[in-house]
Amino acid sequence: MSAIASQPATGTLAVNDPATGKPIGEVPIHSLREVQEAAQRARAAQPRWAATPLRRRMEILREFQRLLCEQKAQVTSVITREAGKPRAEALATEILVVLDYVNYLVEAVPEFLRSESVRHTNPIMKLKRGTLLREPYGVIGIISPWNYPFSLPTTQVLTALITGNAVVLKPSEFTPFTSMEAHRLLLAAGLDPDLFQIVTGDGAAGAALLRADIQKIIFTGSVATGKRVAQAAAARLLPVVLELGGKDPMIVLEDADLDVVSSAAVWGAFMNAGQTCLSVERCYVHESIYDRFLQKCAEKTGKLRVGNGADRDTDVGPMIHQRQLQTVREHVEDAVAKGARLLCGGTPLPRLGPGFYAPTVLADVNHSMRIMREETFGPVLPVRSFKTEDEAVALANDSEFGLSASVWTSDTRRGEALARRIDAGAVMVNDMIACFGIGEAPHGGVKASGIGRTHGKFGLEEMVWPKYIDSDRIPRMKKLWWYGYGPEFFQQMSGFIEFLFHKKLRIRLRGGSKSTRSYLRRKLL
Ligand code: NAD
Repeated sequence: MSAIASQPATGTLAVNDPATGKPIGEVPIHSLREVQEAAQRARAAQPRWAATPLRRRMEILREFQRLLCEQKAQVTSVITREAGKPRAEALATEILVVLDYVNYLVEAVPEFLRSESVRHTNPIMKLKRGTLLREPYGVIGIISPWNYPFSLPTTQVLTALITGNAVVLKPSEFTPFTSMEAHRLLLAAGLDPDLFQIVTGDGAAGAALLRADIQKIIFTGSVATGKRVAQAAAARLLPVVLELGGKDPMIVLEDADLDVVSSAAVWGAFMNAGQTCLSVERCYVHESIYDRFLQKCAEKTGKLRVGNGADRDTDVGPMIHQRQLQTVREHVEDAVAKGARLLCGGTPLPRLGPGFYAPTVLADVNHSMRIMREETFGPVLPVRSFKTEDEAVALANDSEFGLSASVWTSDTRRGEALARRIDAGAVMVNDMIACFGIGEAPHGGVKASGIGRTHGKFGLEEMVWPKYIDSDRIPRMKKLWWYGYGPEFFQQMSGFIEFLFHKKLRIRLRGGSKSTRSYLRRKLL
């Protein structure tokens, strides 16, 4: 049961520790009116912020970075308590990512926001000076999931703020307290509270945000909710970014280092209990190393310590809620019923708590099984063999998703060539998931994995709209294409087109002269 479903409509929402199932606090369920008021406050404050010198905006980010570095232990505890992940993992995949992302923003944004002069190719248009500006949208609505409750929304919030926007964030109902940590630190760093507001509640609060006075929505979550968000946004022509689910393939070529690649598969599948949009959801291994690879993966999986993320020794924590655990159960059962071999795991671990599931390695899976087609989002590594590179590429691309992928080989060039053939927003050669921690790397997918990007240059572009300003260098001259139509104008334009585009030099020159003569004979209105 979700935390929401167990709640009477009292106006508050309980948040549970996924390791124990026990409540750790509650947050208000904000009404449509409250969400709309938050957006209005943000809207009123935003023009002042956009006019604030970039230097000052960057100072606030730097101060936020300093405070986060200092208070990392506290933020990490909050993440672990409500998302369940091991504390060291929270440091590596949440805090570090955000700290580093601030460096990226501070370095990239001055150049990104600098006005750009636009060169004109058309000779007549050279009489004009073009300038491209990047304008903040206004208020960016951000709706986020629970699996990376700090790094996902915070990197989006920081990108929106530094480019001059205000933000209203609706965090997941399972992990609102983590977002409040980001909020607390940004306010302590000097940000005006109206510029970054958090509204809490379940899907209804997200739906309310879509009806509020926001100018763009950045949604991260499941495909099903993403479609609902896209429909609501379409009804009011609200621009959207959708960061949705994945079914990421890992391709292991025969020349890959077996020890390295088996460790990679185990980490890539079980990190955050498999609840990572970029985690290994399908693993394809060359037949010549298939058995040895499976044996190593099963051995290494057997050594993982499953438990409460707050314990120092824990490798794999709990799943976020029962619904998620049930999906994993069903996918594993379906695979085994259709002939997959269970090498280890395959069961919940109720003695540890309600949300624990044993890290599971499944061999001999195929694409008729749900585990190879639907997002499992749990601690399962399903593996099958392939014979040729072509077959591996076909299997990797045989999915409705296209978020990320990885290719493993000791021949980097071969890996890169294969990477180009895979339909995914990012493909890593000899690594996985880490692209989310590279500020410059655009994050996002193709196919059902979403629309648009966060992070990197493309992520910055999502936070602004381009404005083109054009100044004529000869303001006292009437334009050649204005009224005063008639046969001469036709001759002028026809000659001009020949001058610009005809393949033969003789005709081009003749066109130029015809155009000039006709122009001189014309009387412009
Ligand atoms: P979810 O779709 O259930 O919820 C996401 C957010 O949407 C929550 O805040 C929720 O309250 C809100 N919401 C629910 N209904 C809504 C509605 N009708 N209108 C507006 N908002 C609504 O997803 P989840 O279970 O929180 O997260 C898991 C999913 O997120 C997985 O599919 C995972 O792959 C995906 N994900 C994607 C990325 C990415 O970057 N592509 C990153 C992390 C997670």
